[in-house]
Amino acid sequence: MHELSLVEELVAQCRAAAGGRRALVVWARCPAATDAEEVDECFGYLAEQLAAAGDPSLQGAVLRLETVASHIRCGCGYEGDLDDGQVAGHMGVCPSCGRAGELDQPPLELMGMSFAPSAVAQGTARADELP
Ligand SMILES: [Zn+2]
Repeated sequence: MHELSLVEELVAQCRAAAGGRRALVVWARCPAATDAEEVDECFGYLAEQLAAAGDPSLQGAVLRLETVASHIRCGCGYEGDLDDGQVAGHMGVCPSCGRAGELDQPPLELMGMSFAPSAVAQGTARADELP
């Protein structure tokens, strides 16, 4: 469950950035070797947990992930990006010498967020403005 701990960090950053506002979309970058589908599921799960605990700031927010290439720094001196076929989990194969090594992974990174109009977030919308 490596993804869940990554997503927990992302969610903590989102809550700090939201400052009580309600997020509509969250943009984040994740390494290509990360299971984006699992990240998305974890995000939705954590958002619901928060909502159940009384913080709806991420409830129903859409997570948009941009995948970035996996990167390796090998003992042979090679440093560069890897294709998906050279990556298995958190290990990669050096295209220069063929040795397997730990990926030099960037963490899940919060890139930006968009928020609901503040009147709605603060619960001051009049009933006749609601859908
Ligand atoms: Zn190498």
